[in-house]
Amino acid sequence: MVEGDDGMKDVGEQLAEKLKKRNWNKNYRQLIRDAFEDEEVKNFIRDNQAGLSQEDIAKSASKVYEFVSVKNKIKRGEETLAPGYDPQLTLNNHLIDVTYVPSEALIIQKKRQAIYNRVHSINMPKDIRDAELADYDLEGRELAAEAAGRFIVEYTNAPKKFHRAMYLQGSFGVGKTYLLGAIANGLAEEGVTSTLLHFPSFAVEMKNSIGSNGTMKMVDEVKRTPVLMLDDIGADQLSSWIRDDILGVILQYRMQEELPTFFSSNLDMIQLEKQYLTTNNRGEAEPLKAKRIMERIRFLAEEFRIVGRNRRQFKK
Ligand code: ADP
Ligand code: MG
Repeated sequence: MVEGDDGMKDVGEQLAEKLKKRNWNKNYRQLIRDAFEDEEVKNFIRDNQAGLSQEDIAKSASKVYEFVSVKNKIKRGEETLAPGYDPQLTLNNHLIDVTYVPSEALIIQKKRQAIYNRVHSINMPKDIRDAELADYDLEGRELAAEAAGRFIVEYTNAPKKFHRAMYLQGSFGVGKTYLLGAIANGLAEEGVTSTLLHFPSFAVEMKNSIGSNGTMKMVDEVKRTPVLMLDDIGADQLSSWIRDDILGVILQYRMQEELPTFFSSNLDMIQLEKQYLTTNNRGEAEPLKAKRIMERIRFLAEEFRIVGRNRRQFKK
């Protein structure tokens, strides 16, 4: 009895398995048939009929099925094994094959990323990441916006030539930093790398890391960047070390190498010069050193006054 029971069970299990398999096969065959009904598949086979025999097509069934199922998954918004890549039918040694090509969305995303990567921001607010000249509200800054657009065109046309950059002067919140960001992004779209630096924070970092290897390496990187933007210059009282050995060194190099350098400041150039008359250790003003810095800034950049409302008040 015991034996018989077992035997019966075996047979039953085998049968169930067979049925399952048959069903599955049936389903699979149906899926394959459906896949061959896909318009893209039909067109592909028609376009390539010279190179495809009936046997080749039959052998390619699983690839055709893969193509259609991945394609439909993407259409339904489901995650695929290779997100961002679209399946494409190809002919490979008399068989149909599927290759995966970057989707349009992925290409756009990669391009965007490449643009972001060309803008090195150091201690800058995040919202300049998407600043665009096209979105720039022109009221009170027509000249500056026009000059910014011209700079991008002229620089990208002749990157080896010297181009005088801009010194954006205006009160708090008028959009100076935003404009610098928009210029950097505009340049990035043309393949140009720039570095945006919030100068007061940079000065504090330099002071805190005096003597470390990192300090001079950072200064070195900053001074060599193709396009440099020093944001909020003059917002703090600089020590003479920062003024002469950091800022002075950077500006001297950029002047010698004729590398474009932008500035933004709440102060105009005359006010900035006064600000830079830092007293030295002995308590004496150093007008010559302040003048030397200003000479370099004037060589590198033309002053633009930006007026307008404080946009920060209107934001929460
Ligand atoms: P500033 O550097 O002159 O103090 P910001 O550039 O930081 O001013 O601008 C202040 C705020 O207004 C920021 O949040 C910035 O994103 C926004 N903003 C400035 N200009 C524009 C503009 N043209 N279009 C949209 N938003 C702007
Ligand atoms: Mg600012």
